[in-house]
Amino acid sequence: MFKLDGKVAIITGGSRGIGAACAEAMAEQGAHVVVNYVRGEDKAREVAERIIAKGGKAEIAGFDVADSEATEKAIEGIAKKHGRLDIMVANAGIAIDGLLLRLKDEDLQKLFDTNVRGALACARAATRPMMKARTGRIIFVSSVIGEMGNVGQTAYAATKAALLGITKSIAREYASRNVTVNAIAPGFIETDMTHGMNDAMKEYVLKNIPLARVGTAKEVAAAALYLASDEAAYVTGQVLRVNGGMYV
Ligand code: NAP
Repeated sequence: MFKLDGKVAIITGGSRGIGAACAEAMAEQGAHVVVNYVRGEDKAREVAERIIAKGGKAEIAGFDVADSEATEKAIEGIAKKHGRLDIMVANAGIAIDGLLLRLKDEDLQKLFDTNVRGALACARAATRPMMKARTGRIIFVSSVIGEMGNVGQTAYAATKAALLGITKSIAREYASRNVTVNAIAPGFIETDMTHGMNDAMKEYVLKNIPLARVGTAKEVAAAALYLASDEAAYVTGQVLRVNGGMYV
């Protein structure tokens, strides 16, 4: 089950956290993974080296998803080099938190450029080779916050909610080409992104998770692996929640 032998997968933001776990999980199942990063070349290289050391196939690719021209060019190049692109995990994302009254336009811009326009550019570039091949998997990494909102995360929630509308629309647009499009909505996952949270916030979040613990990047990667697999061929336009019951 969930074998990805011979498939090529691009994971944006694959240098750390959830993206790195997705890259490792997919490589373990036989995919050739392209580990994208924007600043963390060393970390991306470490991920690729770990995969290769275990007998897997990986390479790194630096591009800023907020730069849609560079992103589309890079993805086109990867698809051309390998003669295929089977899986696109649009995972790269940033969080800038703050109450609405303190929300700056420039932060809003940064968030939308990376989390929304970036993910869209990835999907747009990926659908071209996928449409031709009449098969493909696009997976967006949204968030529980996009579904339930949170104090101090209005802008972030807006970007993550946008991904859900995008998922459902693209799923309808490309279903006839056998390209499935789904989103994962992780809850509170232990990564660099959540390390910065203060203790009071962490305590509050934990109280609201029925499984009473934070999740791991591996647990999110397992969901991505499923959606990328042949076994998920009849699943499209869906939101797979990996949140410990935080939002049901
Ligand atoms: P993380 O540990 O902060 O890692 C973020 C990743 O995104 C890094 O690999 C980073 O690359 C990359 N990245 C950021 N901006 C980029 C850009 N402009 N272009 C290319 N890559 C970029 O975050 P994470 O917790 O793993 O989160 C991954 C995704 O899951 C995000 O979309 C996040 O919103 C979502 N999510 C996370 C949680 C959570 O609790 N952690 C919950 C729900 C959803 P560099 O290393 O090069 O900086």
